[in-house]
Amino acid sequence: MLLQQITIAVMSTPIVSSPEKTQVNFGLRNTESIHYQLTPEELVQDTLRIGEGVLNDTGALVIRTGEFTGRAPKDKFTVKDEITTDTVHWNEFNIPIEEKYFDIIHEKVKNYLEGLDEVWIRDCYACADPRFRLNVRCINEKPWNNLFAYNMFLRPTEEELENFEAEWQVISVPGLRLDAKECGVRQHNAAIVSFKRKMILIAGSGYTGETKKGIFTILNYILPQEKNVLSMHCSANLGKDGDTAIFFGLSGTGKTTLSADPARKLIGDDEHAWTNDSIFNFEGGCYAKTINLTEEKEPEIYRAIRPGALVENVMFYPGTNKINFDDGSITENTRVSYPLNFISNSLEPSIGGLPKNIFFLTCDAFGVLPPISRLTAGQAMYQFISGYTAKVAGTEAGVTEPKPTFSACFGAPFLPLHPGKYAKMLGEKMQKHQVNVWMVNTGWTGGPYGVGSRMKLNYTRAMITAALEGKLANLSFTTDPIFGMSIPTECPGVPTELLNPRNTWEDKAAYDEKAKYLAGLFRKNFEKYADGVSAAILDAAPKA
Ligand code: ATP
Ligand code: MN
Repeated sequence: MLLQQITIAVMSTPIVSSPEKTQVNFGLRNTESIHYQLTPEELVQDTLRIGEGVLNDTGALVIRTGEFTGRAPKDKFTVKDEITTDTVHWNEFNIPIEEKYFDIIHEKVKNYLEGLDEVWIRDCYACADPRFRLNVRCINEKPWNNLFAYNMFLRPTEEELENFEAEWQVISVPGLRLDAKECGVRQHNAAIVSFKRKMILIAGSGYTGETKKGIFTILNYILPQEKNVLSMHCSANLGKDGDTAIFFGLSGTGKTTLSADPARKLIGDDEHAWTNDSIFNFEGGCYAKTINLTEEKEPEIYRAIRPGALVENVMFYPGTNKINFDDGSITENTRVSYPLNFISNSLEPSIGGLPKNIFFLTCDAFGVLPPISRLTAGQAMYQFISGYTAKVAGTEAGVTEPKPTFSACFGAPFLPLHPGKYAKMLGEKMQKHQVNVWMVNTGWTGGPYGVGSRMKLNYTRAMITAALEGKLANLSFTTDPIFGMSIPTECPGVPTELLNPRNTWEDKAAYDEKAKYLAGLFRKNFEKYADGVSAAILDAAPKA
């Protein structure tokens, strides 16, 4: 496609050519300079030039995302229109907004973009499997947001760019503050998804993850609803024998950390689909947490922090450009994005075969669930629908009780459809392909948060390796009396006494009490699903 022919939907007025560089015409009347499809090096230079980033001692670009250092789920809206009214499962994560407000906000975004001196535009795509490829155009106020898009989405070749037609657009304008009342939103920032206009507008927030999870959200609609393909919030990797493993889990449970396994090829760290014959990655990069990162514990991620990587919201040691990974003073959610091939053994294209093993990761800060256990089909469905994790309450003084979270399908914030839709598809696939399902507690052992400690990463890795290599299959198991899952009595590379959580608590009565308490939370949370599921799934509920 001739660059001159490119127009975008932000355009409302006749095409005017842009004066600089690429002569690309995006219909932005007053914008002095439109930077189309810059290389990562150029985007780094632009970020440095406008004074919004610095390089660390290993050459990665370090930026701050501004007011927002995480997603803003309360400010994410879906336009309620002919397409979505009866298909989207309206809830606290799928908040409706009227079309008229989309139009108002769209107009504001358009005007804002046209008033900027510079805009960065990038064509990219999601979905490694060509059958499901989704072309995306990212239009950014900030060069570092554009670098994020380069790192995280798939990168079309020169040839593919010739005929590139963007199906969806993501427009990100962190500097635009919305008038909440006029725009029908909650406050000055919002992310608005319109399935009819095929557009995601992100105003008032520079947090890069909004773009990533925006595209994830629409794929969680398009794939199951329109293509009969299951989309999943999981990481995936591939063993030497061609066996794929997938790892579901909410934020902080270990998807990214545990999928980076030197003995296996990385397919992806966060978003995948399960087709009739494959598992494929939606993305072209990883978005890893860097809080408390060490080279020793997470060598692959640590070494990915190099030229081209984009590091967010970290602090340096005073007077240096060396990152202090232990410093969470801006946010605990410090992150780095990098292209998949920054991990030494990534798989390209990121498509694997049907999975042999599924792991449900949970970070149980109550210290109740076993560090690894095997689930029956019914238990697997029960756990998938429940989507449990409990994290420590954060850094607030005096807060010591872990905060339990139940998030259907381990990803409720990103699922536009009813969770039952995804659960049904997963259940059918698990049954058809006879997959082993494991639950892994990457959280606390030896007592709850405040008493015990987090399971050592090396032990969790050893448990997963043992499961993957079939080294648990022939060993003996005991049944958890409350939760019902099968707990291995031994595991290579792991102290035996760690396997049964009750053994690790000094105060057994306290364990029993906490286990019953957690069982009660599961049962209460599941009440809303009880009518729609089979007896086998209901039987898998923890005992009261
Ligand atoms: P998100 O969806 O937000 O990307 P995630 O599931 O990818 O979350 P990770 O980024 O892998 O989560 O975060 C797990 C964090 O917990 C890492 O910082 C890791 O170092 C730490 N961790 C500590 N102990 C363990 C353990 N036993 N298993 C896994 N991770 C652990
Ligand atoms: Mn992750």
